[in-house]
Amino acid sequence: MKTTKVALINCFNYELEELKTKIKDALDLIGGLETIPQNARVLIKPNCLGPFHYSQAITTHPVFVQAVIQIVKTRTNNIIVGDNPATKNLIYTLKKNGIYDVIENEKVEILKGDIFTTIYNEEGKIYHEFEVSKQMIDVDIMINLPKLKTHALMYLTCAQKNLFGLIYGLNKASWHVKAPNPLVFAEAFNDFYGAILNSYQNKKIINICDGIIGLEGEGPSTSGFPKEAGAILASFDAISLDRVAIEIAGLEYDKYVLNQIGSKRGLGVGNLKDIEIVGEKINTFENIKFVPATNPLSIRSLRLLKFKRLRNLVLEHPVIDKQKCIKCGECAKICPPKALTIKKGSYPKLNKTSCIRCWCCSEVCPQNAINKSERPLLGKILLKN
Ligand code: SF4
Ligand code: SF4
Repeated sequence: MKTTKVALINCFNYELEELKTKIKDALDLIGGLETIPQNARVLIKPNCLGPFHYSQAITTHPVFVQAVIQIVKTRTNNIIVGDNPATKNLIYTLKKNGIYDVIENEKVEILKGDIFTTIYNEEGKIYHEFEVSKQMIDVDIMINLPKLKTHALMYLTCAQKNLFGLIYGLNKASWHVKAPNPLVFAEAFNDFYGAILNSYQNKKIINICDGIIGLEGEGPSTSGFPKEAGAILASFDAISLDRVAIEIAGLEYDKYVLNQIGSKRGLGVGNLKDIEIVGEKINTFENIKFVPATNPLSIRSLRLLKFKRLRNLVLEHPVIDKQKCIKCGECAKICPPKALTIKKGSYPKLNKTSCIRCWCCSEVCPQNAINKSERPLLGKILLKN
């Protein structure tokens, strides 16, 4: 018997009325809109990773956000919109993303992310408690609006990973020090996801993915490239939605450890056979092939990388492109182990031994000035997938 539902809808543009119809269709297919009680307090959480223009396909498209706001307004006007960007403040980021004007026009509230509460997961494998933005928990419903993107560290970012934005600003970067290996990070992230589900136990999370134009290559930021997928996905289960998203993107499930671990722990359904796909069929998207980030790692390789000393010998490292770098220092500011440093007026400098290869630097670089070096020969041999 199928245990979860994912709605799949074809959509190729960001025209407001068409988007409203299609998102509403997706919600009807999963029975989503009726679950929002009249006058409920609703958080709409787009992906506002950084101050990037929506045409770069890094952040949720502003018209997608507007369509969701207008649909939710048929149930309630008690709406709050926001995310916790990586480095810059939310208002600045929303203005650059094009979402600020939508919020102004729709007269809804902006998230105030710097008041915190703690959420818990007693069954966590690595962590049991997490400090998150209180307003993101103190609502009746969360509507999570991820963007479909490849990810240099985690292979894909979609519904589950978009919830990392419940953690305030630079606090996110410290996770990479505590969990420097993507496999450990995936375990820790699922501890966190379990805590979110606990805190929403009697409430609902509705995930609606903006996969109309996603991002491929060295995502999730300026090193990636926009890629049309023509898809809107909706589900109550982030893990099921992401499982279907990886099929839409034409990527390999074997390399998507975050989802595999979440599914194994029973936090959602990652087995395609147990997911009821309603609306379009997956094979409608069979010609879509997202280019993954270079050298994605298999679970076997990730296990090997638990040995810290191997890291420098086998992995690529960040390389600053001096033609593009504007010496803004954002990369050094976010670098969790302070492996990147910058002096006023100079280019950033890397201490390769301290670098944990989290790629946060590339995520926040506004200039796409951080490249991956070639993988060392030993890595090419040892990390063969
Ligand atoms: S230099 Fe970049 S990849 Fe290395 S630890 Fe710092 S942020 Fe992470
Ligand atoms: S590499 Fe990017 S983030 Fe770092 S200083 Fe240069 S432009 Fe800024």
